[in-house]
Amino acid sequence: MTEANVETREFQAETRKVLDIVINSLYTERDIFVRELVSNAADALEKYRHLSLTEKPEFDADVPLEITIDCDDKKHVLTITDTGIGMTREELETNLGTIAHSGSGNFLEELAEAARKDINLIGQFGVGFYSAFMAAKKVTVKTRSWDGSEGHEWVSDGGGTYTISPCPGLHRGTRIILELKDDAHEYANKFTIERIIQQYSTFIPFPVKVDGKTVNTVQAIWTRSKSEITDEEYTEFYKFIANAVDEPMYRLHFSADAPLAINAILFVPKENYETLGMGRMQPGVNLYCQKVLIDQHSENILPEWLRFLKGVVDSEDLPLNISRQALQDNALVVKLRKVLTKRFLKFLDEEAKKNPDTYREFWKTFGIFLKEGMTTDFEYQKELGRLLRFESSATEPGELTSLDDYIGRMKEGQEEIYYINGPSRAAIEHGPYVEMFRKRGIEIIYTLEPIDDFVLSHLREYEGRKLVSADRADLRLPETTDTEAGEKKDQAESLPEDKVKALCSWMKEVLGDRVKEVKPSSRLVDSPAMIVNVDGFMTSTMERIMQAQGQDSGLAMAGKKEMEINPASPIIRKLADLREADSEFAAMLVEQIYDNAMIQAGLLVDSQEMVGRSYRIMERIAGK
Ligand code: ADP
Ligand code: MG
Repeated sequence: MTEANVETREFQAETRKVLDIVINSLYTERDIFVRELVSNAADALEKYRHLSLTEKPEFDADVPLEITIDCDDKKHVLTITDTGIGMTREELETNLGTIAHSGSGNFLEELAEAARKDINLIGQFGVGFYSAFMAAKKVTVKTRSWDGSEGHEWVSDGGGTYTISPCPGLHRGTRIILELKDDAHEYANKFTIERIIQQYSTFIPFPVKVDGKTVNTVQAIWTRSKSEITDEEYTEFYKFIANAVDEPMYRLHFSADAPLAINAILFVPKENYETLGMGRMQPGVNLYCQKVLIDQHSENILPEWLRFLKGVVDSEDLPLNISRQALQDNALVVKLRKVLTKRFLKFLDEEAKKNPDTYREFWKTFGIFLKEGMTTDFEYQKELGRLLRFESSATEPGELTSLDDYIGRMKEGQEEIYYINGPSRAAIEHGPYVEMFRKRGIEIIYTLEPIDDFVLSHLREYEGRKLVSADRADLRLPETTDTEAGEKKDQAESLPEDKVKALCSWMKEVLGDRVKEVKPSSRLVDSPAMIVNVDGFMTSTMERIMQAQGQDSGLAMAGKKEMEINPASPIIRKLADLREADSEFAAMLVEQIYDNAMIQAGLLVDSQEMVGRSYRIMERIAGK
């Protein structure tokens, strides 16, 4: 080759700017240049494979399709060779001398901005081929097109110019030779390269050989059709991407063409490591574009409350060069997230119907995440509502019901779905709130976790039926045919109405601001009294949580609580007489009844005062 054959050319202005930014910045994420070059190689191979189907190329037709990486740790040179489509001289000039960043016109501005603001950000931009200059002080590209035309060599140090000259004796494809910068010698180390390939390019559909050894052995099974994939392959894949040793609880493999091209495999693990005390989980689904990783542990591809999922999502509609910042508000990504979330929730619903036992296991382990979704994300309430499970008065202890099944069992005339929170099934069943439900044969859901009340308050209604907490003041239970006769009998033994009225207003006087009102109850059967909430949203459980968090809800809530008393209860009947005979002692009993009712509502009382008072009451009874 003579000097005359070497042509020196200038980079297009934009290219120079990108190069400037790339070269003049320090990188902590410069690993990604390997990803960029390997994905270019894979693209070139894919193009050749595609073209060879139609064109029947003759030149070098027997050369196998692969990527070879050589690490010269002594000379600090990294070489990446592919046997892909290659480039003609013209192609070399346009492809590597100009920038045709598909899609975003703001790319340069964003890139420069990121470089200015936070040098780490820049690594998240795919800067394509030019990212080679992050690590290399000199880049040589030797390439020969599939059409067999003369090969060429392109050389640049990333300054304003590059040279092009003929290069005889090449095979089909492209070889990129990087002479590494002094602070980038690690990239000629094969372990470094292997690690990077594992991370970003494992699923490239061609062998990637590092110093002769194929390093990408796991296949991108998500692009294959479901019927061709064995259970073992799925499990292997799961273990690889989730870094797991066990088998997944569920797996969902699905593909769609519209509204977006999606191939996804999602796994539900067996364990919830968050509740096992290992801290908040990172999202476990990676986002790929044509098998190349673009967002690991993606925070954008699924809502936060699905962070327990592991898997991959691949959409060829996404641009490879998109930055993580841009992913956040990319309209395609938003759409993708919605499609994926709905599909996964539908899958859970189907599984729950097909195999309730496995679903119960899922619910026990991961239900907390769906509840988080219900209280933080309004978009999927309907789908999430279908997936909720609770114990109820109609289930055996430990068994669960869905809201749909509850609705199926509703009594004639019943329009609302009732629930009550308590620390345990036994505590609820011994408490005052379920008495009338039991008597009238109306099913009531037991919410045994404090968060459940938030969940159901957020949901508000399901399938057109209001969700109503049984500690609400305005609860009106429907009449049923079950026990009307019994209720009539109770009424006969009740205190007369005028006495009840007088008793109530006196009790209110005794309790002062602690309650808004004392009223006769229409729904207590055995217990003398209970606390109910006037506020339709807030339940006693929520108040308890606020108390536990040290928020002083006491004052705000005082005006919103009422005490209902049971005029048929022996204590209440006696109290009416006692008030006249010994009003001081009667007042003590009222205080005690109030405290008991508060405790049954799960709320805090002044325990010292309560214990002292109960001893005084006992003294009186024991006879002083
Ligand atoms: P992109 O891959 O997004 O197009 P790049 O900067 O990575 O942007 O690459 C620019 C272009 O250079 C590619 O579109 C391709 O035409 C060409 N190119 C890069 N690497 C290779 C290669 N190994 N073989 C063939 N062509 C390549
Ligand atoms: Mg590229």
